[in-house]
Amino acid sequence: DTVGGLLARIATRWPERPALVVRSQQVRLDYRDLHAEVERVAAALLALGLAPGERIGIWAPNRAEWVVLQFAAPMAGLVLVNINPAYRAHELAYALNHVDCRALVLPRRFRTSHYLDVLIELAPELGDAPAGQLHAERLPGLREVIVLDDEPVPGARRWTDLAADDAAMAPLRTVQATLSADDAVNIQFTSGTTGAPKGATLTHRNIVNNGWFVGEAMRLTEQDRLCIPVPFYHCFGMVLGNLACVTHGACMVIPGEGFDALATLETVAEERCTGLHGVPTMFIAELAHPRFAEFDLSTLRTGIMAGSPCPVEVMRQVVERMHMAEVTIAYGMTETSPVSFQTVPDDPLERRVDSVGRIHPHLEVKLVDEAGATVPRGEPGELCTRGYSVMRGYWNDEANTREAIDAEGWMHTGDLATIDDDGYCRIVGRLKDMIIRGGENIYPREIEEFLYTHPKVLDVQVFGVPDAKFGEQACAWVKLREGEHASEAEIQDYCRHHLAYFKVPHYVRFVDAFPMTVTGKVQKYLMREAMTAELA
Ligand code: ATP
Ligand code: MG
Repeated sequence: DTVGGLLARIATRWPERPALVVRSQQVRLDYRDLHAEVERVAAALLALGLAPGERIGIWAPNRAEWVVLQFAAPMAGLVLVNINPAYRAHELAYALNHVDCRALVLPRRFRTSHYLDVLIELAPELGDAPAGQLHAERLPGLREVIVLDDEPVPGARRWTDLAADDAAMAPLRTVQATLSADDAVNIQFTSGTTGAPKGATLTHRNIVNNGWFVGEAMRLTEQDRLCIPVPFYHCFGMVLGNLACVTHGACMVIPGEGFDALATLETVAEERCTGLHGVPTMFIAELAHPRFAEFDLSTLRTGIMAGSPCPVEVMRQVVERMHMAEVTIAYGMTETSPVSFQTVPDDPLERRVDSVGRIHPHLEVKLVDEAGATVPRGEPGELCTRGYSVMRGYWNDEANTREAIDAEGWMHTGDLATIDDDGYCRIVGRLKDMIIRGGENIYPREIEEFLYTHPKVLDVQVFGVPDAKFGEQACAWVKLREGEHASEAEIQDYCRHHLAYFKVPHYVRFVDAFPMTVTGKVQKYLMREAMTAELA
């Protein structure tokens, strides 16, 4: 199916089922209304002169228009480009120019961010020519600017003005008839956890199928209501959230534009949500919220925890205190649409807390050593996957594409994993994050899991810092629970009793926050840079 074809099919099957709730905008749409709105926008985009295959960017936090465009752009044959809402001028220009965006959709502002001001700073020419004819020196490919705001902006269009009459529907039908499931439909940038984000080009086949299999693993039905506080611009929100819901006729419930633990708890309770997504740090914030006990979360059944290592202790609390008995862990990456491993409710609980489950249907997996040879069962190796989910490539980046996807179609993930006799996979860590201290391999994950058992520790990250004598040393950044105090020696002593001496963090620092991507992933490379500077 194509993305647009999927929505049309679901809207025919369940026209009256709730499709989308956006609490911050008081939006409530059923599938018939959502489909009609998507068709209107798709036809209007074609009427503006945008041609199939051209790129349209969306630079916005979670809003109803995001969901509409997620389906309208593919329906019109356009390639949707997800732009991180946290980007500022320099990164925005890079993203738009890298993929040669013809159109950009953005809100005037969100919280303290003035999106429009940032765009005008880049393109002061906006307003010099009629809407649709922008010629900006620094954004040479961009013609159309569409603003999510009621107030008019010279040289730009308003989203609400995107109108399509019956005559505009004919060109839309013509375009739809030419679409293939193997067309590029979406460019998603990776999180930038290990460096500069890369633009992964995905097809209809990639993401529609992945959304379906994710929904299957969660046992979604048209009765479900899934709370999605994770950002849409990232595959977690867009595919595991929105698309998985639509493949099964379930309802997308959006608490607000940015993540807020309290708003998320309120949404689950008031909207009677049956599912909740989050990266581990979001669940940690929700569980630790002082008003946690006030909310009735008993409707919850499922949800996905993913994106970064999921601490066993957090999993247990999510099952026990948030009632998410069927919570599943997923592993994936932007380049594979994204999910390739996921636990399912039938897996025994101990497997569901300590592994990322088994390989998804219709995908292949192997673990290889540095030489590319398959490692013996049970040994750690670089995780490689192959199948329908592998991206077409990085946009306009042959060299990196060839490095990531080999001649036989295997995606080299850059993650270290083990797989046991029953096929359960454990992510050991990123190849890049592995610490090599005096020839010993240290997996930060093992030390982090251990430190989570310390009663004063709320959250912890372990990474390697350069060391003249040993090559590298382990360093731990620790967030303590409210009101707690601890010393470096206390944390080290605790480790010393239970871990081999070389794994004991040589440095311990107490911090209030970790550097994070907007997707809530901890950027260890920035912590490493900070420590290296401190130690120099
Ligand atoms: P970049 O590639 O730009 O450095 P990134 O790899 O974080 O950023 P994403 O594609 O958003 O970008 O994330 C995929 C990565 O997230 C995986 O390669 C893996 O390292 C990590 N990851 C995802 N799910 C899990 C999980 N369940 N457990 C452990 N790690 C996970
Ligand atoms: Mg990556």
